[in-house]
Amino acid sequence: MEWWVYMPKVELHAHLNGSVRDSTLLELARVLGDEGVIVFSDVEHVIMKDDRSLHEVFKLFDLIHILTTDHKTVTRITKEVVEDFAYENVVYLELRTTPKKNDSKGMSKRSYMEAVMEGLRAVTAVDVDFAPQSLDARTSLNRIPMNVDFYNAKHPVILCTDDSGVFSSSLRRSTVSLHQHLVGLGKKELFQLARNGIDYIFADDEVKGDLTEIFSSAAKELDL
Ligand SMILES: [Zn+2]
Repeated sequence: MEWWVYMPKVELHAHLNGSVRDSTLLELARVLGDEGVIVFSDVEHVIMKDDRSLHEVFKLFDLIHILTTDHKTVTRITKEVVEDFAYENVVYLELRTTPKKNDSKGMSKRSYMEAVMEGLRAVTAVDVDFAPQSLDARTSLNRIPMNVDFYNAKHPVILCTDDSGVFSSSLRRSTVSLHQHLVGLGKKELFQLARNGIDYIFADDEVKGDLTEIFSSAAKELDL
């Protein structure tokens, strides 16, 4: 296994809606197409491609917006998103979502959140401990193109995906590209960058302690 896969990661800014698997989108969009809710051919090629324009990204968000009016779908995508992050060796995930209300579908903000919780409980690929939080107190400066400058200026920098599904990003890919192309950060620096995220998580000191242990034993395994 490559070290950037093996390396533990913390994800502090991921949107549920933006992190849906392409294969799931394709499958569910086809159903909506058959039901006449959308024109499947309008979105099929967008889902199939990796390098989407901003316009195409918003097309996908429109589709996801329709899909997430269904409780079962919300549960399914939550489960899959958590499993996908776990597959990337994300050991701590802050997944965000805005509760939606849709009277015509019998969805209240509460039932939406229950569907999300159901998805968390349904995760089988990995052991999950979860704690819902309702307030986002951390200010995030999203997608600053020159975050390399921040890094060099010793500003706290944390790698996050935001919308790994619609933007086809992943922490693994971001790590590799920082390593290989952008600033030539080495294994040690990237590991430290990932570990720094622990200081900024919402969870309490006990969780921080657990994460610190995970990183320490990974550091030994990786000879860091
Ligand atoms: Zn965001």
